[in-house]
Amino acid sequence: MLRVAAGIYEVDTASGLWNASLRGRIKKRDDRIVSVGDLVELEWVDDEPRITQVLPRESALTRHGVSKRREQVIVANVDQVAIVAAADQPAPDLLMIDRLIALSVLSEIECFLVVNKSELTDANPDLEPYKELGVDLLRTSVKAETGLEALADRLVDRITVLTGQSGVGKSSLLNALVPGLDLRVGEISERRGRGRHTTVASALYRYPGGGYVADTPGLQYLALWDMDPAELGLGFEEISLASEACRFSDCRHRSEPNCAVLEAVAAGEILPRRHESYLRLLDEAEGSR
Ligand code: GDP
Ligand code: ZN
Repeated sequence: MLRVAAGIYEVDTASGLWNASLRGRIKKRDDRIVSVGDLVELEWVDDEPRITQVLPRESALTRHGVSKRREQVIVANVDQVAIVAAADQPAPDLLMIDRLIALSVLSEIECFLVVNKSELTDANPDLEPYKELGVDLLRTSVKAETGLEALADRLVDRITVLTGQSGVGKSSLLNALVPGLDLRVGEISERRGRGRHTTVASALYRYPGGGYVADTPGLQYLALWDMDPAELGLGFEEISLASEACRFSDCRHRSEPNCAVLEAVAAGEILPRRHESYLRLLDEAEGSR
Protein backbone atom coordinates (compact mmCIF):
# COMPACT_ATOMS: atom_id res chain seq x y z
CA MET A 1 0.00 0.00 0.00
CA LEU A 2 1.57 3.25 -1.13
CA ARG A 3 -0.48 6.02 0.41
CA VAL A 4 -3.84 6.71 1.92
CA ALA A 5 -6.11 9.71 1.84
CA ALA A 6 -9.72 9.98 2.88
CA GLY A 7 -10.24 6.24 3.06
CA ILE A 8 -8.81 5.59 -0.39
CA TYR A 9 -5.75 3.36 -0.43
CA GLU A 10 -3.37 3.46 -3.36
CA VAL A 11 -2.02 -0.01 -4.02
CA ASP A 12 0.63 -1.26 -6.41
CA THR A 13 -0.48 -4.47 -8.10
CA ALA A 14 0.65 -6.73 -10.92
CA SER A 15 -1.71 -4.74 -13.11
CA GLY A 16 -0.46 -1.32 -12.03
CA LEU A 17 -1.57 1.28 -9.51
CA TRP A 18 -5.14 1.14 -8.23
CA ASN A 19 -7.26 2.94 -5.69
CA ALA A 20 -8.64 0.41 -3.27
CA SER A 21 -11.18 0.56 -0.51
CA LEU A 22 -11.14 -1.37 2.72
CA ARG A 23 -13.48 -4.27 3.23
CA GLY A 24 -15.85 -3.50 6.12
CA ARG A 25 -14.72 -6.27 8.38
CA ILE A 26 -11.06 -5.27 8.67
CA LYS A 27 -11.93 -1.65 9.39
CA LYS A 28 -13.03 -2.64 12.85
CA ARG A 29 -9.81 -4.34 13.78
CA ASP A 30 -7.72 -1.43 14.96
CA ASP A 31 -4.83 -3.65 16.03
CA ARG A 32 -3.83 -3.85 12.46
CA ILE A 33 -4.90 -0.84 10.51
CA VAL A 34 -3.44 -0.81 7.01
CA SER A 35 -0.24 1.22 6.95
CA VAL A 36 1.91 2.60 4.18
CA GLY A 37 4.30 -0.17 3.14
CA ASP A 38 1.98 -2.99 4.10
CA LEU A 39 1.53 -6.00 1.87
CA VAL A 40 -2.17 -6.54 1.43
CA GLU A 41 -4.51 -9.07 -0.14
CA LEU A 42 -7.14 -7.77 -2.48
CA GLU A 43 -10.47 -8.97 -3.73
CA TRP A 44 -11.94 -7.56 -6.89
CA VAL A 45 -15.57 -6.57 -6.86
CA ASP A 46 -16.89 -5.23 -10.18
CA ASP A 47 -13.31 -4.46 -11.23
CA GLU A 48 -12.70 -2.47 -8.06
CA PRO A 49 -10.07 -3.69 -5.61
CA ARG A 50 -10.85 -4.02 -1.94
CA ILE A 51 -8.30 -4.75 0.75
CA THR A 52 -9.29 -7.89 2.60
CA GLN A 53 -6.20 -8.65 4.60
CA VAL A 54 -2.92 -7.19 5.80
CA LEU A 55 0.01 -9.60 5.76
CA PRO A 56 2.39 -9.81 8.72
CA ARG A 57 4.99 -7.06 8.82
CA GLU A 58 8.73 -7.68 8.52
CA SER A 59 9.53 -4.38 10.23
CA ALA A 60 7.96 -1.06 11.04
CA LEU A 61 8.94 2.47 11.90
CA THR A 62 6.47 3.54 14.50
CA ARG A 63 5.28 6.78 15.95
CA HIS A 64 6.36 5.86 19.43
CA GLY A 65 9.83 4.61 18.84
CA VAL A 66 9.83 0.98 19.60
CA SER A 67 7.27 0.75 22.35
CA LYS A 68 4.44 -1.61 21.64
CA ARG A 69 1.82 0.32 23.48
CA ARG A 70 -0.02 2.94 21.49
CA GLU A 71 2.09 1.99 18.55
CA GLN A 72 1.31 3.82 15.37
CA VAL A 73 3.00 2.60 12.24
CA ILE A 74 4.51 5.30 10.04
CA VAL A 75 5.89 2.96 7.38
CA ALA A 76 5.81 -0.82 7.41
CA ASN A 77 8.30 -3.23 5.89
CA VAL A 78 11.10 -0.68 5.70
CA ASP A 79 14.35 -2.32 4.59
CA GLN A 80 16.63 0.61 5.25
CA VAL A 81 16.78 4.18 6.49
CA ALA A 82 18.94 6.60 4.52
CA ILE A 83 19.86 9.48 6.83
CA VAL A 84 20.74 12.46 4.69
CA ALA A 85 23.11 15.13 5.98
CA ALA A 86 24.97 17.89 4.18
CA ALA A 87 28.76 18.00 4.16
CA ASP A 88 28.19 21.68 4.83
CA GLN A 89 25.33 24.23 4.67
CA PRO A 90 23.61 23.38 6.90
CA ALA A 91 26.05 22.06 9.47
CA PRO A 92 24.99 18.55 10.44
CA ASP A 93 22.56 18.25 13.33
CA LEU A 94 24.42 15.45 15.11
CA LEU A 95 21.77 14.92 17.76
CA MET A 96 19.21 14.35 15.04
CA ILE A 97 21.53 11.90 13.30
CA ASP A 98 22.13 10.01 16.55
CA ARG A 99 18.40 9.95 17.20
CA LEU A 100 17.67 8.54 13.74
CA ILE A 101 20.42 5.92 14.04
CA ALA A 102 19.07 4.85 17.44
CA LEU A 103 15.53 4.70 16.09
CA SER A 104 16.71 2.49 13.20
CA VAL A 105 18.83 0.20 15.37
CA LEU A 106 16.08 -0.23 17.95
CA SER A 107 13.59 -0.91 15.17
CA GLU A 108 16.03 -3.47 13.74
CA ILE A 109 16.23 -1.65 10.43
CA GLU A 110 19.52 -1.09 8.62
CA CYS A 111 20.60 2.51 8.23
CA PHE A 112 23.32 4.43 6.43
CA LEU A 113 24.38 8.03 6.03
CA VAL A 114 24.18 9.98 2.81
CA VAL A 115 26.47 13.00 2.89
CA ASN A 116 25.13 15.29 0.20
CA LYS A 117 26.63 18.59 -1.03
CA SER A 118 29.95 16.73 -0.96
CA GLU A 119 31.39 19.14 -3.53
CA LEU A 120 31.50 21.80 -0.78
CA THR A 121 34.10 20.11 1.39
CA ASP A 122 36.32 17.03 1.26
CA ALA A 123 35.15 15.39 4.44
CA ASN A 124 33.22 16.65 7.40
CA PRO A 125 35.13 15.68 10.58
CA ASP A 126 31.86 15.44 12.52
CA LEU A 127 30.49 12.81 10.15
CA GLU A 128 33.55 10.63 9.53
CA PRO A 129 33.38 8.91 12.97
CA TYR A 130 30.11 7.25 12.03
CA LYS A 131 32.05 4.90 9.77
CA GLU A 132 33.74 3.46 12.85
CA LEU A 133 30.34 2.86 14.40
CA GLY A 134 29.47 0.61 11.50
CA VAL A 135 27.31 3.12 9.67
CA ASP A 136 28.06 3.23 5.94
CA LEU A 137 28.68 6.66 4.55
CA LEU A 138 27.87 7.51 0.94
CA ARG A 139 28.93 10.82 -0.52
CA THR A 140 26.71 12.48 -3.05
CA SER A 141 26.41 15.78 -4.77
CA VAL A 142 23.28 16.58 -6.69
CA LYS A 143 25.01 19.71 -7.91
CA ALA A 144 28.19 18.04 -9.19
CA GLU A 145 26.28 14.86 -10.07
CA THR A 146 28.59 12.58 -8.16
CA GLY A 147 27.84 9.55 -6.03
CA LEU A 148 24.30 9.32 -7.32
CA GLU A 149 24.81 5.95 -9.00
CA ALA A 150 26.10 4.32 -5.83
CA LEU A 151 23.06 5.61 -3.95
CA ALA A 152 20.75 4.52 -6.77
CA ASP A 153 22.21 0.99 -6.58
CA ARG A 154 21.43 0.79 -2.88
CA LEU A 155 17.78 1.59 -3.43
CA VAL A 156 17.03 -1.18 -5.91
CA ASP A 157 14.36 -3.67 -4.79
CA ARG A 158 14.15 -2.29 -1.30
CA ILE A 159 11.88 0.01 0.67
CA THR A 160 13.99 2.96 1.71
CA VAL A 161 13.07 5.80 4.02
CA LEU A 162 14.98 8.98 3.21
CA THR A 163 15.11 11.35 6.14
CA GLY A 164 17.22 14.10 7.69
CA GLN A 165 17.36 17.80 8.42
CA SER A 166 15.65 20.24 6.18
CA GLY A 167 17.85 21.88 3.55
CA VAL A 168 20.29 18.99 3.14
CA GLY A 169 18.96 18.06 -0.29
CA LYS A 170 16.47 15.23 0.25
CA SER A 171 14.03 16.54 -2.32
CA SER A 172 16.88 17.25 -4.74
CA LEU A 173 18.17 13.69 -4.33
CA LEU A 174 14.74 12.17 -4.82
CA ASN A 175 14.18 14.26 -7.92
CA ALA A 176 17.55 13.14 -9.31
CA LEU A 177 16.83 9.49 -8.56
CA VAL A 178 13.16 9.25 -9.47
CA PRO A 179 12.53 10.89 -12.84
CA GLY A 180 9.20 12.65 -13.06
CA LEU A 181 8.79 13.05 -9.32
CA ASP A 182 9.20 16.84 -9.27
CA LEU A 183 9.27 17.51 -5.54
CA ARG A 184 9.66 21.14 -4.69
CA VAL A 185 13.25 22.03 -3.86
CA GLY A 186 14.50 24.75 -1.55
CA GLU A 187 11.34 25.20 0.37
CA ILE A 188 12.38 25.83 3.91
CA SER A 189 9.14 24.59 5.30
CA GLU A 190 9.02 22.28 8.23
CA ARG A 191 5.74 21.18 6.77
CA ARG A 192 3.97 19.98 9.87
CA GLY A 193 5.87 21.47 12.74
CA ARG A 194 7.79 19.56 15.30
CA GLY A 195 7.26 18.09 18.71
CA ARG A 196 5.21 15.46 20.36
CA HIS A 197 2.20 15.99 18.18
CA THR A 198 3.97 16.16 14.87
CA THR A 199 2.04 14.20 12.31
CA VAL A 200 4.20 12.04 10.19
CA ALA A 201 2.32 11.48 6.98
CA SER A 202 4.09 9.17 4.66
CA ALA A 203 3.89 7.97 1.10
CA LEU A 204 5.87 5.53 -0.99
CA TYR A 205 7.09 6.28 -4.49
CA ARG A 206 7.88 3.52 -6.93
CA TYR A 207 11.57 3.46 -7.58
CA PRO A 208 12.21 3.03 -11.32
CA GLY A 209 14.87 0.35 -10.78
CA GLY A 210 12.49 -1.66 -8.55
CA GLY A 211 11.60 -1.00 -4.94
CA TYR A 212 10.17 2.06 -3.25
CA VAL A 213 11.38 5.21 -1.59
CA ALA A 214 9.38 6.71 1.22
CA ASP A 215 8.73 10.37 1.85
CA THR A 216 8.24 10.75 5.61
CA PRO A 217 8.24 14.44 6.47
CA GLY A 218 8.55 14.93 10.19
CA LEU A 219 10.22 11.62 10.98
CA GLN A 220 13.43 13.46 11.82
CA TYR A 221 11.70 15.25 14.68
CA LEU A 222 10.33 12.16 16.27
CA ALA A 223 11.71 11.71 19.69
CA LEU A 224 12.11 8.33 21.24
CA TRP A 225 9.06 9.04 23.31
CA ASP A 226 7.52 6.21 25.18
CA MET A 227 10.46 4.00 24.65
CA ASP A 228 11.98 2.13 27.52
CA PRO A 229 14.89 4.26 28.81
CA ALA A 230 16.62 1.03 29.78
CA GLU A 231 16.78 0.06 26.10
CA LEU A 232 18.08 3.32 24.70
CA GLY A 233 21.73 2.35 25.13
CA LEU A 234 21.21 -0.44 22.62
CA GLY A 235 20.71 2.24 19.98
CA PHE A 236 24.28 3.44 20.48
CA GLU A 237 26.60 0.70 19.34
CA GLU A 238 29.69 1.75 21.30
CA ILE A 239 27.68 2.42 24.47
CA SER A 240 25.94 -0.90 24.17
CA LEU A 241 29.27 -2.71 23.83
CA ALA A 242 30.96 -0.93 26.72
CA SER A 243 27.93 -1.33 29.00
CA GLU A 244 28.51 -5.05 29.25
CA ALA A 245 31.19 -4.24 31.84
CA CYS A 246 29.05 -1.86 33.93
CA ARG A 247 28.63 -2.92 37.54
CA PHE A 248 24.85 -2.63 37.48
CA SER A 249 22.93 -4.40 34.78
CA ASP A 250 20.38 -1.57 34.79
CA CYS A 251 23.06 1.12 34.62
CA ARG A 252 21.93 4.25 32.76
CA HIS A 253 25.52 5.46 32.31
CA ARG A 254 24.81 8.84 33.88
CA SER A 255 26.66 8.92 37.19
CA GLU A 256 26.53 5.38 38.50
CA PRO A 257 29.59 3.93 40.23
CA ASN A 258 31.74 1.57 38.18
CA CYS A 259 30.07 2.56 34.95
CA ALA A 260 32.16 1.17 32.11
CA VAL A 261 30.61 3.62 29.67
CA LEU A 262 31.67 6.67 31.72
CA GLU A 263 35.12 5.10 32.00
CA ALA A 264 35.30 4.61 28.24
CA VAL A 265 34.28 8.25 27.71
CA ALA A 266 36.99 9.40 30.14
CA ALA A 267 39.53 7.19 28.39
CA GLY A 268 38.68 8.73 25.03
CA GLU A 269 37.28 5.47 23.67
CA ILE A 270 33.78 6.85 23.30
CA LEU A 271 33.21 10.29 21.79
CA PRO A 272 31.92 12.63 24.53
CA ARG A 273 29.41 14.12 22.12
CA ARG A 274 27.89 10.72 21.40
CA HIS A 275 27.51 10.15 25.12
CA GLU A 276 25.92 13.59 25.40
CA SER A 277 23.44 12.70 22.66
CA TYR A 278 22.64 9.54 24.54
CA LEU A 279 22.01 11.52 27.75
CA ARG A 280 19.76 13.99 25.94
CA LEU A 281 17.68 11.19 24.50
CA LEU A 282 17.66 9.41 27.85
CA ASP A 283 16.20 12.53 29.49
CA GLU A 284 13.53 12.60 26.80
CA ALA A 285 12.70 8.95 27.20
CA GLU A 286 12.53 9.23 30.99
CA GLY A 287 10.53 12.44 30.86
CA SER A 288 7.85 10.77 28.83
CA ARG A 289 7.13 8.13 31.45
P1 GDP B 1 15.47 19.17 1.62
O1 GDP B 1 14.90 20.22 2.51
O2 GDP B 1 16.34 18.20 2.39
O3 GDP B 1 14.48 18.47 0.77
O4 GDP B 1 16.51 19.93 0.66
P2 GDP B 1 16.27 20.50 -0.83
O5 GDP B 1 16.32 19.37 -1.81
O6 GDP B 1 15.06 21.34 -0.82
O7 GDP B 1 17.59 21.36 -1.05
C1 GDP B 1 17.94 22.47 -0.21
C2 GDP B 1 18.90 23.37 -0.97
O8 GDP B 1 20.15 22.70 -1.16
C3 GDP B 1 18.40 23.75 -2.36
O9 GDP B 1 18.74 25.11 -2.56
C4 GDP B 1 19.19 22.85 -3.29
O10 GDP B 1 19.38 23.41 -4.56
C5 GDP B 1 20.51 22.74 -2.54
N1 GDP B 1 21.24 21.49 -2.88
C6 GDP B 1 20.76 20.25 -3.04
N2 GDP B 1 21.74 19.37 -3.33
C7 GDP B 1 22.90 20.08 -3.37
C8 GDP B 1 24.28 19.74 -3.62
O11 GDP B 1 24.65 18.59 -3.88
N3 GDP B 1 25.19 20.76 -3.52
C9 GDP B 1 24.82 22.03 -3.21
N4 GDP B 1 25.78 22.96 -3.12
N5 GDP B 1 23.53 22.40 -2.99
C10 GDP B 1 22.57 21.43 -3.08
ZN1 ZN C 1 27.08 2.26 32.80
